[in-house]
Amino acid sequence: MTTAIFRTTSHTHHDEPRHVEQAARLIAVEQALAASGLLAQAQVAVAAPARERDIRAVHSTRVVETLQYISLEGEAWLDSDTYVMLGSWEAAQQGAGAAIEAVDALVSGRAANAFALTRPPGHHATPNRSMGFCLLNNIAIAARYATDVLGLERVAIVDYDVHHGNGTQDTFYADGRVLFCSSHGAPLYPGSGQADETGTGAGTGTTLNVPLSYGVGDSGYSQAYRELIVPALHRFQPELLLVSAGFDGHWDDPIGPHALSVTGYAGLTQLLKDAAAELCGGRIALVLEGGYSMRALPASANAVLGVLLGLPQPDPLGGAAGGEPDIAPLVGGIKRLHPLLQSC
Ligand SMILES: [Zn+2]
Repeated sequence: MTTAIFRTTSHTHHDEPRHVEQAARLIAVEQALAASGLLAQAQVAVAAPARERDIRAVHSTRVVETLQYISLEGEAWLDSDTYVMLGSWEAAQQGAGAAIEAVDALVSGRAANAFALTRPPGHHATPNRSMGFCLLNNIAIAARYATDVLGLERVAIVDYDVHHGNGTQDTFYADGRVLFCSSHGAPLYPGSGQADETGTGAGTGTTLNVPLSYGVGDSGYSQAYRELIVPALHRFQPELLLVSAGFDGHWDDPIGPHALSVTGYAGLTQLLKDAAAELCGGRIALVLEGGYSMRALPASANAVLGVLLGLPQPDPLGGAAGGEPDIAPLVGGIKRLHPLLQSC
């Protein structure tokens, strides 16, 4: 079966070279995928822009019209780290479109799994606010499309970007059809994602946060995924698994405090691919989020594409030096408090 890749081309119009979130990131990823030969093994398509009604199913009129207006008029900063310029709306719209097309490809059976190569990233964008480098929440728009347009009853999102996916959490906090699981550094931007944030109303128990202290790497992440996130997926029984694939948890990342390696990221992705094979016919789509090391980002993206294709890739950077903090007390605490994990 096929691995589908959905590319975005208009992202180059959203580019501030003095900012860590710049077009060179995704250009480097695509060069790495081509150089390794993996791109040639996949079915590659350029994504169409998302329909405005699919974007508005997540985002308020204020978010949509602010981006559209600034993209026509010139340039502005929405907060101290989120820029918008001529062409940003088209870039954001195509990023959301890539995530939607990945969902479509899996649900229709045209692809076994998929990788949406998107930027700017999306997971900090809330229904009412673009923030944290993110304009539109690509993965949230795709998950809502899966439930509201395609009629799926249970979609899971796992977020292994080093930052908490606050926008995704906010979108689905009271929506029991979407399980949101996030591992992230704490304390770290944006400050949300405590273990006791577990959902509300119909969404009670469908948010799972694993806030990890600084220095956690391959061993701690593996433990968190094996003991918390994979069991939660088994409890929830999703029909589709989406992954916010951010690579700023790598030890070489200039803004992330964690110590994952390329091999570690491949291992987490393999755990999720295996879970998807058991639970939902293998339907797993990765959506690119953060990652700001120009060495670790392309190598990690290449390694996780290798997992999707079943073609293991080398780790050119190796593992982090030094030991890791023990996360067993955190894991034990979350098992005791989380509604989805009790009696696991
Ligand atoms: Zn991040």
